[in-house]
Amino acid sequence: MAGDASARGITPGADTTAGGHMSADEFRRAGHAVVDWIADYWQTLEKHPVRPSDPPGTVARALPVTPPEHGEPFDRILTDLDRVVVGGLTHWQHPGFFGYFPANTSAPSVLGDLVSAGLGVQGMLWATSPACTEVETVMLDWLAQLLELPQRFRSGSTGGGVIQDSASSATLVATLVALHRASGGTWRTAGTAAGYAVYTSTEGHSSIEKAARIAGVGDQGVRLIDVDPVTLAMRPDALRRALDADLAAGRRPAIVVATVGTTSTTAIDPVEEIGAICTEYGVWLHVDAAYAGAAAVCPELRWTHAGLERADSYCFDPHKWLLTGFDCDAFWVADRAELVEALTVMPEYLRNALSDAGAVIDYRDWQVPLGRRFRAVKLWFVLRWYGAQGLQAHIRSAVAHAAWFADQVRADDRFEIVTPGPFSLVCFRLRGQSDEVNSALLAGVNASGSVLLTHTRVAGRFTLRLAVGAPRTERRHVAAAWELIADTATGLLADQQRRDDG
Ligand code: PLP
Repeated sequence: MAGDASARGITPGADTTAGGHMSADEFRRAGHAVVDWIADYWQTLEKHPVRPSDPPGTVARALPVTPPEHGEPFDRILTDLDRVVVGGLTHWQHPGFFGYFPANTSAPSVLGDLVSAGLGVQGMLWATSPACTEVETVMLDWLAQLLELPQRFRSGSTGGGVIQDSASSATLVATLVALHRASGGTWRTAGTAAGYAVYTSTEGHSSIEKAARIAGVGDQGVRLIDVDPVTLAMRPDALRRALDADLAAGRRPAIVVATVGTTSTTAIDPVEEIGAICTEYGVWLHVDAAYAGAAAVCPELRWTHAGLERADSYCFDPHKWLLTGFDCDAFWVADRAELVEALTVMPEYLRNALSDAGAVIDYRDWQVPLGRRFRAVKLWFVLRWYGAQGLQAHIRSAVAHAAWFADQVRADDRFEIVTPGPFSLVCFRLRGQSDEVNSALLAGVNASGSVLLTHTRVAGRFTLRLAVGAPRTERRHVAAAWELIADTATGLLADQQRRDDG
C-alpha cells in the first residue's frame, strides 16, 4: 500500500472539522500526508502491475452510489485512495511503462502544480494576475532557447509562446488563425469554413482532423497526403499535387500540418521542403512535434527540426517527454498579432486600460477557453530544478535505452525493426509472422503485468511499439522487457511449430 494515513501523522478522526473549511493546521497535516503518499507511491511503483486486470465497472462499484451527506475525515479519504483507486490505475510513471508515448511527471512538476492549485489564480488577462502571464511568457522564451527555436517565435520578436492544454488544442488554434489568414480576415464573420482545405500526411495525428471538424472545415476538406513508403514522411510532391488540385477545384488551402515524430512511428516530415511549398502557395504551416519536440533540448537531435524557420506555428508537449505533468503543451506562433486578431472578443466586463492599449499579453486571446490556470509555475519549477543539463540527461537516457533495445531486436533474426527512428520509440515485429502471431506476442508480454507495450499498424501490418521515457526506467527494466519479449516469442513460435507438425 502506498499510503497508511495514521502512519503519516494523521490521527484517525483528528480532523474534527470535516464538513467545514480545513484549518491551516489540518491542511498542513493532510498536505504532508499526501506528499508522503505520493513519494511512497513512486517508490513502490514496481510492485504494481503496470495495467489493471479488473473488468470494467470495478472501480465505480467500489464507490458509494450517493455523495456523502456529511464531510468525512481526511484520513478516510486518503485510505480510499489505496482501496479504490490505485488498483484501477494504469501506472504511467511505472518503469515498465513502454506504451503509447510517455506522459512524464516529476517531483518539481507536482510541487509546481500544488503551488498553482494553492494560488488558485485565473490568468485569463494580464490584469487578472500579472505574474501568471509574465512567468508564462518568460518560460516559453526559455523553452524556445532550450530547443533553439527560430528567433521569430520569441516574445521579443513578432511572435511568442503560450501554454495550451494539449497538442490537439494547439492544432485547433493554429487551424483557426490559418483560416483567418486564408480568408483575408473574413472567416471571423462568415460563420463557416466550408470550402477551405487542411493538409497533413496519412500519418498525421487524429487531432488534425478533429480540429478541421471543430473549425468547420469538415472531413471533406481534409487532405491526407501520401507518405514515402520507407520513411513514412509526407511526400512534398504529393502535397503540391493536392494543393494544385484543390485550387483548380476552387477550394482554398488554409493550413498544412507537418509532423516531427509521428504518433505511429516517429516519422519526420521534410519540414524544409514542405515549408518552401507553403511559402509559395501562401499557406499556413503548423509543425506538430507533440512527443519529439522535447528531443530538441539535445543539440545532437536538433537536426530533426530542420526547416522550422519556415513554420508559422509550432508545438510540443512538455507533458509527454519533458518531465512536466499533464497538462502542458507549449505552442508558439511567429506572428502573435494575427493570432490575437483571429480570436479576440472583448466584452465590456473584461475591458481594462492596459488591454485596450495593447500594452500587455492577454492569453485568453491565444486559446479557445477564456479562463486559464497558472500552469507556467510547474514549468518554472521543472526548468529550474533540472536545468538544461538535467533535461538533456533525461532525453539522452531514453534515446540510449531505445537504441540498446533496437540493437537486441536487430541481433535476433526472428525479429525485424519496422521503422528505425532517432528518438525513444522502437517499432518491431516478428519477421515473416502473421498479424495474429504478433498480436499474440503483444498480449503475452503485457499479460506479465511487469511491462506495458502498445501497437500500431505500419503499411497495414500489426507492429509492436516500445516507447521509453518514464522517469524511473533504467537499463535493467529495458533488458527485462527484452528478455520477456524474446521468451514469449520462443513460446509462441514453439506452439506454432507444434501445431504445424501435428
Ligand atoms: N500530435 C502527435 C504527433 C501526437 O503523438 C499526439 C499524441 O500522442 C498528439 C498530437 C495529441 O497530443 P495531446 O494529447 O497533447 O493532444
